[in-house]
Amino acid sequence: RAKSAGGNRFELADPEADARAITRHGLTTALPAALERGEFFIEYQPLVHLGDGSVRGAEALVRWLHPQHGVLGPDRFIPLAEHTGLIVPLGRWVLEQSVRQVGHWRERCGEPGPLRINVNLSPCQLTHPGLVQDTVDILERAGVSPEALCLEVTESALIGADDDLLKPLRRLAEMGVDIALDDFGTGYSNLANLRRLPVSVLKLDRSFTQSMQQFPADPVDLKIVEGIVSLAHSLDLAVTVEGVETGAQAEQLRILGCDTAQGWYYARPGPPDRLHELALVDATG
Ligand code: C2E
Ligand code: MG
Ligand code: MG
Ligand code: MG
Repeated sequence: RAKSAGGNRFELADPEADARAITRHGLTTALPAALERGEFFIEYQPLVHLGDGSVRGAEALVRWLHPQHGVLGPDRFIPLAEHTGLIVPLGRWVLEQSVRQVGHWRERCGEPGPLRINVNLSPCQLTHPGLVQDTVDILERAGVSPEALCLEVTESALIGADDDLLKPLRRLAEMGVDIALDDFGTGYSNLANLRRLPVSVLKLDRSFTQSMQQFPADPVDLKIVEGIVSLAHSLDLAVTVEGVETGAQAEQLRILGCDTAQGWYYARPGPPDRLHELALVDATG
């Protein structure tokens, strides 16, 4: 599809890139109707205490059941939703569903102790003026206490953050909502800067977990994780590790002092009832 006539010159088309662009465009324009038609759903992945193996809560991970393309992961559509601003209503929907879900879990089982829910926030949601009020309303409507909620913000979203950006997070933290720094260790944030941020949890990026594949792991990586954990604990932050796929990784990270873990070794993301079952099985042995 090369066109050389006239003033407009087009490069020779790369059919695959074309197809990708068309899908991207198609997905982007389909997003608002998808939200209205209820094509999004949430899977929950357990967060497990490394010390005793008990299920403490779950992270909510959104998926799109697309009528033609099947189930699409968030990496396929969250960037598009961020680009168009649809992430604000979509994110609000995820928050509302997730908070209601943790309310149900808490009602149904006092047994394993109060489960908690982690919800991811996009940078666009952070700068949206309705964030604090929306969150308060959602918690109230569901009758769920703020302590049951942890909002995950990526480290990169907070790099160089000024006070205006941090204000809503501070308000939420004062209310009792936990703030976690997601994918920690992938950005270039100044460690001393951590003190300034209203965060109470560090989620160590999966790349660290991957380097714990061998037992014992690479000594330099071990030192780095050890250093992060000791810094985090001295600042009163809990450390969660993501992407734990093997028992050896779990054991190594437990020895290094990490508090909570998440990964395929424990469970893949799944429907809400499965989380409830895992928590119960775990409580009754
Ligand atoms: P994340 O918040 O870092 O979530 C962890 C990702 O790691 C999830 O991918 C999860 O399925 C995957 N994972 C969990 N355990 C393992 C493991 O053992 N091995 C490997 N290889 N992967 C594991 P997922 O569900 O595809 O989500 C990708 C990203 O999309 C999330 O990364 C998060 O940044 C974003 N996301 C998901 N749901 C939402 C949402 O509701 N709102 C926003 N703004 N972003 C979301
Ligand atoms: Mg996350
Ligand atoms: Mg993460
Ligand atoms: Mg990650």
